[in-house]
Amino acid sequence: MSKYGLLLLTAILLIGCNQQEILPSLPLTTSAKHLEDKQEIELVDVVVQKESDEVLEDKTTETEDKPEQIEKDPILVVDNPTSVEVLVNKQRKLPDGYSPKDLVVPNVPFYFSEDDPKKKMRKEAAAALEKLFKGAEQAQLDLVAASGYRSYERQKTIYEYNVTTRGQAVADKYSARPGTSEHQTGLAMDVTTAQVAFSLEETFRQTNEGEWLEQNAHSYGFVIRYPKGKEEITGYSYEPWHIRYVGKSIATEIYDQSLTLEEYFTRE
Ligand SMILES: [Zn+2]
Repeated sequence: MSKYGLLLLTAILLIGCNQQEILPSLPLTTSAKHLEDKQEIELVDVVVQKESDEVLEDKTTETEDKPEQIEKDPILVVDNPTSVEVLVNKQRKLPDGYSPKDLVVPNVPFYFSEDDPKKKMRKEAAAALEKLFKGAEQAQLDLVAASGYRSYERQKTIYEYNVTTRGQAVADKYSARPGTSEHQTGLAMDVTTAQVAFSLEETFRQTNEGEWLEQNAHSYGFVIRYPKGKEEITGYSYEPWHIRYVGKSIATEIYDQSLTLEEYFTRE
């Protein structure tokens, strides 16, 4: 089995009970892309995205040569974790243990019925999401929510498991460090539709729901956080299903100028 296969296996094992539906039919030879698209939630955590196997090969060598470089790689702690404008990415993390104080469950359809913290969003974002879903409904579309808030503890568990089983260098390459997942802000939600069997994959963009979301999310204060063609800037593959609340003004500016959140905050 290739190193990459082992990583995928690790990912699959970590995916655990809430992802069972994809396990039986998922061969280890399945591309990372497929895996990632199917289950963005855990794959952002575990397998990650853009960097494919050749990167792993390169990194393995580099790691052996200069392990200190990875350990010294600084991750800045954001000073505005409660702001709806907070910028969280692989270089910018939330403070350790941060948890939003105003999490609520938005009144929108989810693809699962049981109670789960991942139904939650911060109050302002949840209210905006409800309006967005109303707008979609009025356009006769069938949006379904999949995954919102993810706790620091859950991310930490996944990351530490990877460090233990694979070593820190590999864990850093293939799992988000606790605090660096945007889902921890309570401002992000993954949405999908029955047309793609409620999965999180690029084909969502080709559905009427995906197209509507791309063209209208900003009117409700959301951005498509990881756009196509901006992978190098965001550090993530195209995710047409992942929307992030930033408020209407910023969202509209980002939409009109085809920016990422990173570009918005660093522009002149
Ligand atoms: Zn997401």
